[in-house]
Amino acid sequence: MPGATDTKPTKPLKNPCNLCQSVRAILKRPKTGQQLCKECFFHVFETEIHNTIVDNKLFNKGDRVAIGASGGKDSTVLAYVMKLLNDRYSYGLDLILLSIDEGITGYRDDSLETVKRNRDQYQIPLLIVSYKDLYGWSMDDIVKEIGRKNNCTFCGVFRRQALDRGAIMLNVDHIVTGHNADDIAETVLMNILRGDLPRLQRCTSIITNDTSEDSSGIETSKILRSKPFKYTYEKEIVMYAYFKKLDYFSTECIYSPNAYRGHARVFLKDLEAVRRTAIVDIIHSGEALSASVQANESTKLPTMANCTRCGYISSNELCKACLLLEGLNKGLPQLGIGHTTKIRRMHEAANLASGLSSPVSLSSAVADGSAEEKVKVVTHIKDLGQLETMPTLDSV
Ligand SMILES: [Zn+2]
Ligand SMILES: [Zn+2]
Repeated sequence: MPGATDTKPTKPLKNPCNLCQSVRAILKRPKTGQQLCKECFFHVFETEIHNTIVDNKLFNKGDRVAIGASGGKDSTVLAYVMKLLNDRYSYGLDLILLSIDEGITGYRDDSLETVKRNRDQYQIPLLIVSYKDLYGWSMDDIVKEIGRKNNCTFCGVFRRQALDRGAIMLNVDHIVTGHNADDIAETVLMNILRGDLPRLQRCTSIITNDTSEDSSGIETSKILRSKPFKYTYEKEIVMYAYFKKLDYFSTECIYSPNAYRGHARVFLKDLEAVRRTAIVDIIHSGEALSASVQANESTKLPTMANCTRCGYISSNELCKACLLLEGLNKGLPQLGIGHTTKIRRMHEAANLASGLSSPVSLSSAVADGSAEEKVKVVTHIKDLGQLETMPTLDSV
């Protein structure tokens, strides 16, 4: 062929994407170390979640599914991906956003504005239920009463029940939450360190009907819960939100963080830094341990009945939320905190016979449809700082 020798050979692509080979890679995938282009990263990220959903048979066609939405990165990405996969693979799900307003000024009020924007952006209806309506106490009120110590106990117990009560209002059969692989690996570590085998079992299940994983007091609910991000790395969720320019809220809760979880988290990140599969390895270890726990009769969960005050499912006469409310309303906020035997003694001392009002005042708090603010894309370079990205990330 004349002139063929004059043709310049095509310049080899610098840092080609490991999957498509046709575009430059712009990121290094935290979970596998693969160097990928943006589109291939989106594809593998979404497909892995789809596979998790299908392999575990999380949903049936026609299910009404509430997405627990806080406005944070995990639940924002979850809402986006659930909608996308529901459309792409025709799951046939009826999706609804469900948010809890704990009543934390300067934190939840701002993050709920983000959820309202997500409602408009993704065209998914939203229900907001508040602690104040459900229990008569906001977290601000509770912290004023009990101080900053232990308030997470109240918040955790109240949130789980509030999600269930919201789900009942919405008549949904299933709640999905944005718990990611890092969260689950942390919980596995914490339960191993505490020797809490029943909770170890439940925290590794992708689908449960329990409402309490890390607070004292075991309660279950009939509404299914699942974690489609069970194997999704937190760093990849941050990366996905960043490249998709999703609108999320990134401030940490202003009230005291869980110190024990904080240590587990730091430990986990250290392990991940030397071995990227550490997170998923710990989850698999948790699953293997759970399987052996399951075979052991002595770790069976207590039989369930209903709370005599509010009707919520509980293994005790009063559910955990009613016990905590009892303490708050009587000015004995320590009542529901601590070991069960100690609780029972204090419980008796506090003389439960006196009739206190039930926490359940299910006045609906459907969010108003007016979120006209300009959509602001919040990206978090700080979060991305710890990610392994290719040099071209700066130019994105
Ligand atoms: Zn590619
Ligand atoms: Zn109750």
